[in-house]
Amino acid sequence: MKKTIELAGRVKHLPPYLFDKIDKLKKQARAKGVDLIDLSIGDPDIPTPAHIVEALQSAAPKPEHHRYPAYEGMLAYREAVARWYLRRFGVTLDPGTEVLSLIGSKEGIGHLPLAYVNPGDIVLCPSPGYPVYSIGTMFAGGKPYLMPLREVNGYFPDFSAIPRDVLNRTKLMFLNYPNNPTSAVCGREQFMEAVELAHKYNFIICHDAAYSEVYFNGKKPMSFLEIDGARDVAVELHSLSKTYNMTGWRIGFAVGNADIIFGLGKIKTNLDSGVFQAVQEAAVAAIETDDSVLAPLRDTYRARRDTLYDGLRAIGIEAMRPDATFYLWAKVPARFNSESFAVHLLENAGISATPGNGFGEAGEGYIRFALTVDVERMKEAVERMRKII
Ligand SMILES: *Cc1c(COP(=O)(O)O)cnc(C)c1O
Repeated sequence: MKKTIELAGRVKHLPPYLFDKIDKLKKQARAKGVDLIDLSIGDPDIPTPAHIVEALQSAAPKPEHHRYPAYEGMLAYREAVARWYLRRFGVTLDPGTEVLSLIGSKEGIGHLPLAYVNPGDIVLCPSPGYPVYSIGTMFAGGKPYLMPLREVNGYFPDFSAIPRDVLNRTKLMFLNYPNNPTSAVCGREQFMEAVELAHKYNFIICHDAAYSEVYFNGKKPMSFLEIDGARDVAVELHSLSKTYNMTGWRIGFAVGNADIIFGLGKIKTNLDSGVFQAVQEAAVAAIETDDSVLAPLRDTYRARRDTLYDGLRAIGIEAMRPDATFYLWAKVPARFNSESFAVHLLENAGISATPGNGFGEAGEGYIRFALTVDVERMKEAVERMRKII
């Protein structure tokens, strides 16, 4: 007799996966031989720069790298991170206590609530937002409280709309700028407001800075740790994935408040054994990458952005002109909602994009295009859309 193997509640009660329908339609389209233009994937289409791959090749044979790595990362890696922080943001970090390696920043997001959130504690999560903030919260038994990001507020949460009793029960808040999916970049005043709130209500802030280096208007996004008092309450997560086209390598880092880094490290010592040290050596080469290597990457995204943004405007689709990230957040035409527009694009133009409501209810009415195809394909996408709008 076939036994029923029951999933744990935390898995059974995961919110419905809103991209399900789109994923199925995408598969069907591909099976039918449709020449799909995929603008739904948040994964760079450009390979990792050669000098980083070469650094891995020379590090891989070293026997000292073939043993268990330390969960906190090699000192050389943490020192490289600290040097970069000083150079890039003017922020001084102690590589011994204020830097921790991560197996991608997603790992840090998932593990942080395990270190700090008790069952019933509230975690403030942006909506629309990267889904792992609220899912990591639920896995730890916490309660996500969704903060809507609205265009009128520059896609920054309106803290005054959060009830006081919610703030009193809040243990952690996630923020993410430059933002996925809206591409919004945020300024000093907004970060200051967040730090002030965290001090007042005694909670932790985790700022996800995965896109801090994916900018293309010359105005560099700032670090959350540049704000006075941030280090008392905050950690910042970084990823090498998006900056250096290294999504497959699984490496990132957490920096900031030494106590919070310690707590996150406690979870990691008990669950993982760190990042393959050869990958860490390559990551040092990545972090030390000259701007002359990154500049052409930024030019590439800027050209794609211009093609798509100008094209959408010309056919009457309103969008945010992104200055950072590789996403373009657009309003769906009035006769559609997020999902019906995504389905329309797929079925009638062979274009896949991500419906905004999949990132949270507040994303309803929007669609996210990823700038991860070349300019020629982007032109083709605009041309196809023109015919069906
Ligand atoms: C891609 C992404 C991540 C995860 O990056 P990894 O370092 O590859 O785990 C985290 N946060 C946001 C907002 C992302 O878009």
